[in-house]
Amino acid sequence: MEAARSVAFYTLGCKLNYSETSTLGRLVEERGYRKINFQQGADIYVINTCSVTDNADKKCRKVVREALKYSPDAYVCIVGCYAQLKPREIAEIPGVDAVLGAAEKFRLLDLLDGFQKKSVPQVFASEVTEARRFNSAYSLHDRTRTFLKVQDGCNYHCTFCTIPLARGKSRSDTIESAVNQAQEIAQTGVKEIVLTGVNIGDYGIVDGKRQNRFLDLVQELDQVAGIERFRISSIEPNLLSNEVIAFVAQSQRFVPHFHIPLQSGSNKILRQMRRRYLRELYADRVQKIKNLMPHCGIGVDVIVGFPGEKEEDFLETYHFLNELPVSYLHVFTYSERANTPAAAMNEAVPMKVRQQRSKMLRTLSEKKRRKFYEENLGRTATVLYEEDVAEGQMQGFTENYVRVSAPYDPLLINELQLVQLGEIDERGAVAITPASVLVS
Ligand code: SF4
Repeated sequence: MEAARSVAFYTLGCKLNYSETSTLGRLVEERGYRKINFQQGADIYVINTCSVTDNADKKCRKVVREALKYSPDAYVCIVGCYAQLKPREIAEIPGVDAVLGAAEKFRLLDLLDGFQKKSVPQVFASEVTEARRFNSAYSLHDRTRTFLKVQDGCNYHCTFCTIPLARGKSRSDTIESAVNQAQEIAQTGVKEIVLTGVNIGDYGIVDGKRQNRFLDLVQELDQVAGIERFRISSIEPNLLSNEVIAFVAQSQRFVPHFHIPLQSGSNKILRQMRRRYLRELYADRVQKIKNLMPHCGIGVDVIVGFPGEKEEDFLETYHFLNELPVSYLHVFTYSERANTPAAAMNEAVPMKVRQQRSKMLRTLSEKKRRKFYEENLGRTATVLYEEDVAEGQMQGFTENYVRVSAPYDPLLINELQLVQLGEIDERGAVAITPASVLVS
């Protein structure tokens, strides 16, 4: 009998890509293929690409080269956002055999059997408007937490963003299917689910029609037995309703942690970005959260160096963030993306200035994080320990996203433990000692 063909995957990009690769991996195994590690030399390589990372083209080329190093005759298939945006360019990368766009990503399963090397690469990439189907996905890389995809695509048109071009219109899983998957995940022993999507606050559009709201999903998932924690990954401020905040505040399972993109603290820049809120709304959302959950962790995405961002606009962002009771920042240095309105705007900010601004906000982020951790010292919290071990210490996160370190104990991996938060250690995590453990 002929041995089953082997498939190896590589993922570039976001949580959504990771959840999709993970699901594709499980599905190819169900089809009778052997899923192996990248370095093991596979018959077929599937590379899931991203359009948001800098140098997407360069990174893609590098992964193809690496794959062929391990298996010179391998069949190489490129899928994902970058494959959707630039299918022809990708097909020209030496060694690429197939390119699958957004609507075709999950057709991989049907196409696999026919993957045989040909003299010219095959390109399966329809217009992104064809990407209307919702494909469920969740990651299952380790047992600690999993990313469950509940929504895909985006109907917004932020002027800097390529995601709607790469992933298409907003569409969602049904509540029933999301709940079923959460139950399936609970069976595997996973304790925490992170809800993932492109614009999850817009959850609820199924087959082109709005059927539910995000709050409905949250309320149903809250009842799934076996999952100890749900985390909402990132939600647009204008879609983070009072009802969602109030529900999370009283929930035993949804943790007090939000990640809310701000992008700029200047209303002038927010308008140019075509974001759907002004800074006042953002501040109001943060205040509402803090009123109900004083120790809630709040992460912020912010872009520096958007075209037209003058020194005073940047300082407005800086001071706005400095005053807000948020816990940490994810800082992005603006870079031009082809086919976006922002790329054609005047008054580009010099790269050196973008980098200086980025550095200032990263420093501010460290200050914010430290202050947030300090406010948590002495409190009791529940930690979910992860598998990573460094220098005899293991790490985990509290409900509100304080990073905790504790002496390594293999029995604690993927366990929840009620602890008292001690001091901030030299690596910037909060140390606990076994003596401060309250309940195991
Ligand atoms: S909300 Fe804006 S930034 Fe986010 S995916 Fe949609 S278009 Fe892109």
